[in-house]
Amino acid sequence: MTKATNFIDGVWREGSLGTLEMINPSYGTKIGEIARSGASDVDLAVRAANRAFSSVWKQTPAAERSRMLRKAADLLLHHADELAEIESADTGKPLRQAQNDARQIVRYLEFYAGAAEHIHGDTIPVSAEHLVFTKRVPLGVTGHIIPWNYPLQMTGRTLGAALAAGNATVLKPAEDACLAVVRAIELMSKAGFPPGVINLVTGTGEEAGQALADHPGIHHLAFTGSPEVGAHVMKCSAAHIRPVVLELGGKSPQVVFADADLERALPVLVNAIIQNAGQTCSAGSRVLVQQEIHDLLVERLADRFRSLAVGPADGNPDVGPLVSEKQLERVRTFVDEAVTAGAEIAAQATVDFAPSGSPSQSYPSPDSTSQSSHSLETLSPDSSAPDSSAPDFPSHGFFYPPTLLTHVDPQSTIARKEVFGPVLVVIPFRDEEEAIRLANDVEYGLVAAVWTENLGRAHRVADAIDAGQVYVNGYGAGGGVELPFGGMKKSGFGREKGFEALHEVTAVKTYVINKG
Ligand code: NAD
Repeated sequence: MTKATNFIDGVWREGSLGTLEMINPSYGTKIGEIARSGASDVDLAVRAANRAFSSVWKQTPAAERSRMLRKAADLLLHHADELAEIESADTGKPLRQAQNDARQIVRYLEFYAGAAEHIHGDTIPVSAEHLVFTKRVPLGVTGHIIPWNYPLQMTGRTLGAALAAGNATVLKPAEDACLAVVRAIELMSKAGFPPGVINLVTGTGEEAGQALADHPGIHHLAFTGSPEVGAHVMKCSAAHIRPVVLELGGKSPQVVFADADLERALPVLVNAIIQNAGQTCSAGSRVLVQQEIHDLLVERLADRFRSLAVGPADGNPDVGPLVSEKQLERVRTFVDEAVTAGAEIAAQATVDFAPSGSPSQSYPSPDSTSQSSHSLETLSPDSSAPDSSAPDFPSHGFFYPPTLLTHVDPQSTIARKEVFGPVLVVIPFRDEEEAIRLANDVEYGLVAAVWTENLGRAHRVADAIDAGQVYVNGYGAGGGVELPFGGMKKSGFGREKGFEALHEVTAVKTYVINKG
């Protein structure tokens, strides 16, 4: 059982409002507590960050910031297995995926350690009498509100860029899952950052998040989460004339033409929606397929969906539970309403409590796990253990079976809204023109993919789709730490990841030296 506190000004402190329970979504059992923070805790953190920025961090050379980030990356790498276990138990993502996330936070810090020394300005030729040059300077204190779907990765990507650029930071992770973030911050705090440069305040969105969004001492706010809360924090920031970066998810299309290499596409199409049980902002949640191969593709996808292993995260299934009961209800409602509106379930996986690859392992009942001192402890068989033949989903974990939907009206809710669950819709199109129209006919524009062997068409369609990232004959590029990432339309604005993120958390300052 983990009890986590805030990290403010280099000191671990209790939250002023008490604690919040953390639940393991595979079993619905308590695995820890975090600090429940309010405005006073946030205020302490923001003040500490401002003091650290002006007294020491602003003057710290880029080479030293780089060295600290690299040391932090090494510390995280050394504890990657531990971080992955915590992340998996806390979020419900299969251990294998959490292990990848633990490597990714390391990669983010390594990348931004390298980038820190390459934040350059320009010289601008104006006249013989003037020397004009620019510097990229940090903004001051950056606030970071992150969600529960990739806590470790998001911590790395958002803090890495801000710290590399010389900002002091206040991080507010999500109340649904943040135990691995607390451990990561503890490790990073040993890398030599001055007190107050990295602050962590946990708690609910309405309390800690709102206080951070309202605080006048924040000079930039990075938010990842729902469009509703994104719009709200943008309004709060407007009151302070403060820049924001908003990453608000998507309904990303994968456009499959009849000439596509289906063998290559199939595993990618499936993985793009089942990874992290579909709770991924860039999930490929809409397959648009050319009419001629619609039935063939549905049949092949359906085979794969039926064979997916769904179960507790520590059994390393293909798909784990959703993060919370609230999320489970949300996904269930989306699918139920889609079916009522005329969509057909072409295939659904079975929620099976036998873990993939280790049939002899048994899974604990909720009661027995709650007394466990270790979140991943495996207990002996129990008569109340779930019955894998039961038709309903296990009541004590937040499982939803990967679901493939066809006969979906492109105007319906399921075709247009972000479900944030393992639910894939397949919609046919006639030709290139209709494919582009359907791909763009949603409010979002985060990621897209085009599957075709025709080079000209690949370029035409990639150009025509409104999305921050477009892939051709693939989806994702090994984590994408180096690739600018962010949305168009209601997916948000501003860019994270890559070098581009450094531009968001710096301002260009122009110097004009009169030589006369
Ligand atoms: P959310 O937007 O409520 O939460 C995201 C973060 O914002 C959390 O840290 C939360 O504590 C914080 N927050 C909430 N209210 C706040 C407020 N008033 N002021 C400041 N911060 C606040 O998202 P959710 O309710 O956890 O999930 C709902 C839906 O949002 C999901 O189903 C999904 O569609 C979408 N979502 C998208 C992403 C993404 O990666 N883009 C991540 C999580 C959720």
